[in-house]
Amino acid sequence: MYLATAHDFEAWRNAARTLLAADVPPDAIHLRDPDDPPTLFANEEALPEAMPGVVAKRVPRDFVEIAEKVACHRDGERWDMLYRILWRLTHGEPHLLDVASDDDVHRLLMMEKAVRRDIHKMHAFVRFRRVETEGVEHFVAWHRPDHRIVRPATPFFARRFPNMRWTILTPDESANWDLSMLTFGPGVPADQAPEADQLEELWKTYYASIFNPARIKLKAMKKEMPVRHWKTLPEAALIPQLLMKAPERVAEMIARQEGSRRSARDYLPGEHDMPSLRAAAASCQGCEIYCNATQTVFGEGPLDARMVLVGEQPGDEEDRQGRPFVGPAGHVLDAALEVAGVDRRRVYVTNVVKHFKYEPRGKRRIHQKPDAREQAACKPWLEAELNLIQPRVLVCLGATAAQALVGRDFRIGERRGEVIETDWCPQTIVTYHPSAILRVPNDEQRNSMRSALIADLSKALSLVDQPSKSGQNHYVQNYDEQS
Ligand code: SF4
Repeated sequence: MYLATAHDFEAWRNAARTLLAADVPPDAIHLRDPDDPPTLFANEEALPEAMPGVVAKRVPRDFVEIAEKVACHRDGERWDMLYRILWRLTHGEPHLLDVASDDDVHRLLMMEKAVRRDIHKMHAFVRFRRVETEGVEHFVAWHRPDHRIVRPATPFFARRFPNMRWTILTPDESANWDLSMLTFGPGVPADQAPEADQLEELWKTYYASIFNPARIKLKAMKKEMPVRHWKTLPEAALIPQLLMKAPERVAEMIARQEGSRRSARDYLPGEHDMPSLRAAAASCQGCEIYCNATQTVFGEGPLDARMVLVGEQPGDEEDRQGRPFVGPAGHVLDAALEVAGVDRRRVYVTNVVKHFKYEPRGKRRIHQKPDAREQAACKPWLEAELNLIQPRVLVCLGATAAQALVGRDFRIGERRGEVIETDWCPQTIVTYHPSAILRVPNDEQRNSMRSALIADLSKALSLVDQPSKSGQNHYVQNYDEQS
């Protein structure tokens, strides 16, 4: 058994030429990487001398190209496999590479594919960070490839960034470009890579701008941008947030493209206060819901309210009266507010959608949930209300409000009553919508949901923490006033 080391394609090719010329069959050799432990049963022998007069054998060009790639694979068996295929190609099987079902050929092609893919990933995922050494700007990147691909992968960067001094560090090897020559050095551990700098922010902004929420396929995304590379990708920190907001952005995109490209934004007054907002909303035609509704039901409550309650949309009675939460659901809410000790007159109450969407059924008008496009079209009104009020506590009543203000993947069953920081308020709580309580047929369950609503409103009240001039909490119901 001959034992030889091959650390790269050239070393393997030299060894293979010698072995082939000496007519050494594949099962008489073992070629290994220099850092592989020696095999127990192999006695290392120097490579044999080539037999005199033996002419170098011709091998298909395809094989040489594939072998160059496969040489980068980390599988320690690749050198023996390459020699075995070389032997077969030169010993009666010149068309072996066409036999895709052959075990050796299949394995060869799979390894080549893995290496090509890894090179592609390196081109896509290397992120340079700017460092300065003695006043000279240098760009450094850290990357952990799956295979030993630094040499075939880095000429790409020299072509792409010829006017930048750069270094790419990997655990196997480093590549350095000094504006004229690409050189290779030893590998370095991850902790020697430079710290984050402003390039990261730049890259994040760019990534956020090219991120297309309408094309999210998480599985495909993880395949294209494997999670193991996320640590070195500044933009990867944005992915959870972008994914969370993706459905909302899609809805906004749809809203922009459909519905005659209208939304409430087209009706928003430039400089505005609450009365001008309310007046503008009265003639909003930002989506189709207004067509069948009686009137816009805008929010109501004091402008200095520290607590805002947001529901889904007005109901039948609200549509007739033009005021939020005055129908049966409003009565449930009022009762819960009273038990929780919250004075409704101190609270601003509104909805995500300002017109009543329904389906006529005989004389009745049956509530229909506004779809994502309609919610997105109407959201500018709610945003403007929240911007003017700047509440200390925001209470989302039901899933629609929660998904509009907390995130599309919010689940009431999992996070009801939790205090959450959102873009709209540092203290946001999600609880049941009063109409959901009305819909529950079972007394026990209805009582349990009602208790939860009261508990959540009490919690919201405790967070307001805004004493009035009299020293009382601003929101605590003044029963003397009531009586
Ligand atoms: S539902 Fe909202 S966006 Fe649609 S018309 Fe009414 S106010 Fe305008």
